[in-house]
Amino acid sequence: MHKIKVSGLVVDVVRKNIKNLHLAVYPPVGRVRVAAPLRVSDEAVRLAVITRWAWIKRQQAKFSKQERQSEREYVTGESHYFQGQRYRLNVIYHDGPSRVSIRNHRNIDLVVREGSDTVQRERVLLTWYRQQLKLLIPPLISQWDATIGVKVSDWGVKHMKTKWGTCNVPAHRVWLNLELAKKPVQCLEYVLVHEMIHLLERHHNDRFATLMDGFLPSWRLYRDELNRAPLRHETWDY
Ligand SMILES: [Zn+2]
Repeated sequence: MHKIKVSGLVVDVVRKNIKNLHLAVYPPVGRVRVAAPLRVSDEAVRLAVITRWAWIKRQQAKFSKQERQSEREYVTGESHYFQGQRYRLNVIYHDGPSRVSIRNHRNIDLVVREGSDTVQRERVLLTWYRQQLKLLIPPLISQWDATIGVKVSDWGVKHMKTKWGTCNVPAHRVWLNLELAKKPVQCLEYVLVHEMIHLLERHHNDRFATLMDGFLPSWRLYRDELNRAPLRHETWDY
């Protein structure tokens, strides 16, 4: 096998005892490989690549999209969600403190040091998500403390693999999933109210549903929204 370059594209060429030239694009990165008959010259291979240029580019775009969706790399052009809206991520390299900001209602600018890796870029964005949740949660808790007539003594945000929220009833402590930063604020409020109602009723029974109906009549809407993009395994009923 040897490599040739066609307009900046690296192509692996294999000569084989075959009749026709075969061109293929392989996932995950869209590597291009040509199997050519023994007597076909590199010039003819080059021509075959150029003839199928548009198709090759389409295949590569398809693989790169699949890759991005399955695994976040925190690179420019990726879609990321914040408060239920989709944003385009822009990674900006800058020597100084890292920061995140929203621009024009469509962009999330992620400012990081040049050479920062995926893990570091992810950490900066997750820290920002956490800060945003921590701004939203206290006013919601004081409002719902008064409405429901309970007292949340302690609360926190953490990354949970299977739950949107939890409530430690004896300690009056509520935990909310960091992933909620990506969902509409109403979904965050629904999970919070759900956990706070556990302070009145531990179990997901008829009384629990009646309390939810009383305090947040449209809760089923937000539950369905969360179940559309569920965390691993868990579906919420209440
Ligand atoms: Zn529950």
